[in-house]
Amino acid sequence: MDKTLLYQHAFDKDVVRSTATPFYYYDTALLHETLQEVNHQIHGLPFQVHYAVKANNNPRILSEIAKGGLGADLVSGGEMEVALAAGFKAQEMSFSGVGKSDQEIMLGIQHDIGCFNVESIPELEVINQLACEMGKTANIAFRVNPDIDAHTHKYITTGTAENKFGICIEALEPAVKHALTLPHIHLRGLHFHIGSQITTMRPFAMLCDTINSLLDKFEQQNIHFESINVGGGLGIDYTDPDSHPLPDFKSYFNTFKEKLHYRPNQLVHFELGRAIVGECGTLIASVIYVKESRNKKFIILDAGMTELIRPALYDAHHLIQNLTAQGGEPCGVYDVVGPICESSDVFCRDCKLPITRRGDLIAIRSAGAYGECMSSRYNMRRQPASVFVGSK
Ligand SMILES: *Cc1c(COP(=O)(O)O)cnc(C)c1O
Repeated sequence: MDKTLLYQHAFDKDVVRSTATPFYYYDTALLHETLQEVNHQIHGLPFQVHYAVKANNNPRILSEIAKGGLGADLVSGGEMEVALAAGFKAQEMSFSGVGKSDQEIMLGIQHDIGCFNVESIPELEVINQLACEMGKTANIAFRVNPDIDAHTHKYITTGTAENKFGICIEALEPAVKHALTLPHIHLRGLHFHIGSQITTMRPFAMLCDTINSLLDKFEQQNIHFESINVGGGLGIDYTDPDSHPLPDFKSYFNTFKEKLHYRPNQLVHFELGRAIVGECGTLIASVIYVKESRNKKFIILDAGMTELIRPALYDAHHLIQNLTAQGGEPCGVYDVVGPICESSDVFCRDCKLPITRRGDLIAIRSAGAYGECMSSRYNMRRQPASVFVGSK
């Protein structure tokens, strides 16, 4: 049976009414269901899923995900510390990022993390040097820039040649051969990450083709890798979250199962962020004022780009719902904006909503990923609170 049809999103009305706005509402039942579905889809396959901590580093969310059996993908030493505190195992951590500091590298070596995803030759030399000084061997994979356009927003495409991430394919072979000579480096494999909010399987299938030809080429030279990390990037349904509360994990993992020619004993790693936590979070705000100007009506919320910056930063669309208006059908057209002193502080232009009044409660959906963790204190705003509903 299609699992996605069973889940009907509903907010706990008492919690919504009794919590001071703005706040993040997390549906932990949906988070559990998401983790179960991931584990169900990879069952029996040599697949290991890491959670990209940068999508949401709320300690409660992290510990639920660690309990769900996922590893952690990190982009800073700070994330390593919160992930360790939340119960993730160091051996199941990979650490990406173009600018890892010496302190961050030492922290990873000290904890014997599963893998450093190395993005340049200078970084490789520093890791080897620091591991030598600490009397250890560091596990690494090379992050390869596969030059694949994931056709997503320009700021969230990471796998094309003109951006800063990874080692370009031409430079990979000498890098691999060099790494194999370094005494304090254990080369585990190759790492790829092509972008974010990818909703068709085509870019992932193209990635598989690229990886397959690289593996063939290395095998001809008798170079074998124990792991292949295909990154993250699976998207979610921002337009209709209630119809698709769970991303299409089946098609996603099937794409790799069918297209990627992984070898016996090779482990395939995934690093999903948004797909794990995106739908379980909602930003709840109150309407402070409804204001009419010459040809516009504005809904002014007590939440803004300081609580959820994605619309201002990436032109991102989130479904907006009025939780308290009478009568369900949309009959007003509003610009839904925040209180911050920036023109980009807009959640949605020309948004169709029921007639909305001061004091109404507004839900901004699918805000679990890159929401709370990107909140800022600009304008001396307070950090938004978070509530968790639905766990045992
Ligand atoms: C951000 C990031 C991810 C997660 O991306 P999502 O789109 O949230 O799945 C995975 N791997 C790396 C290296 C990243 O930087």
